[in-house]
Amino acid sequence: MEDVLTDDLRLVSRAELLDVIKTQERVIAAARARQVFVLRELSRRSWPGQTDVNRLARELDVSRSTADALLETSYRTPEESDRMVELASGQATFDRTHALARLFVAGGRDPEMTEAKDRDIAGINKMAARMRRIRRRVERQAHSERHVRTWLSLDETTGFLSGQFTAMDWHTVTTALDHRADQIPTDTGSREQRRADALVAFARDWLDGTEPVGHGHVVSVMVDASEAANTGAETGVRLTGGSRIGPDTLDSLLCEGAVEVMVDRHSGMPLAVGPTTRVVPPKLRRYILGRDGGCTIGGCTSSYRLEVHHITPRSQGGTHEPGNLTTVCWYHHHIAIHRNGCAIDPQSPPHNRRIIPQPDW
Ligand SMILES: [Zn+2]
Ligand SMILES: [Zn+2]
Repeated sequence: MEDVLTDDLRLVSRAELLDVIKTQERVIAAARARQVFVLRELSRRSWPGQTDVNRLARELDVSRSTADALLETSYRTPEESDRMVELASGQATFDRTHALARLFVAGGRDPEMTEAKDRDIAGINKMAARMRRIRRRVERQAHSERHVRTWLSLDETTGFLSGQFTAMDWHTVTTALDHRADQIPTDTGSREQRRADALVAFARDWLDGTEPVGHGHVVSVMVDASEAANTGAETGVRLTGGSRIGPDTLDSLLCEGAVEVMVDRHSGMPLAVGPTTRVVPPKLRRYILGRDGGCTIGGCTSSYRLEVHHITPRSQGGTHEPGNLTTVCWYHHHIAIHRNGCAIDPQSPPHNRRIIPQPDW
């Protein structure tokens, strides 16, 4: 088949052409295996710690992503492993071996590696992305990057907006938009057009001072119980409908009692709270709201969506005991405390609460 290159390619079938390309991919795989092997030795001896990606890219005259892929594969593919053998023999492409290395970094072990065998490379990357832990730091970073930008076209005839939210806030916004869009007659436009109309309707209502109508929306949370327990909820927790959430968001959900039900994804059994049970019992919640008479953060006069906050979070063993509960407005509760990863100073007086950086729970 090698001499196909010198043949008149027009006379060769598609299957044969593909075969030649596949054979060459195997040659590349074997060459990459050799590179990965030598690279490991190079890393061991030339530089302290890990090889610098930028330097390697320069020295090999390859892109940073190629250098990165080579290094990642060399660090995460053990010499004696099946993955290395498959790469060296050309049974697996370099791209597949690299994807598996990333899955390993994300925490993939035997069960995941076996599952990955039946997947294409995009599927393996997706598995890795889903396994990646959502660390509190990452959630806070996502929160600090929140924004909505609006601008007009140069001729000022068209307006645009784009934005970025945490997964939880994105869930709130898209759920509301979709519900509102569902109330708009379908003959008025496509789904995306009706979402745009829904956003305008929200704005109109607010400007007109129309009484907001609550739809009693509460979220349901799907938990992979064993996974969540093993990672401190950095993986294995998602909202029904898709977005993954991390420990900060889970704390906030459990605190405000907006969770309808938490279900184990595998057994389907409810965890921690039963269906429609608010996390803080309604009677206790009314008592706390009445006791405090408004947001307890020093100097705050907002009465927007007053909620009950657990001073010591539920996930850290905080209870529903009244001394651990305090009333806060929505802004302080969601923006200042939970999303920023802050806490209420337990030493601050009950009606003049102070927000402090969160101790390392
Ligand atoms: Zn709270
Ligand atoms: Zn407040």
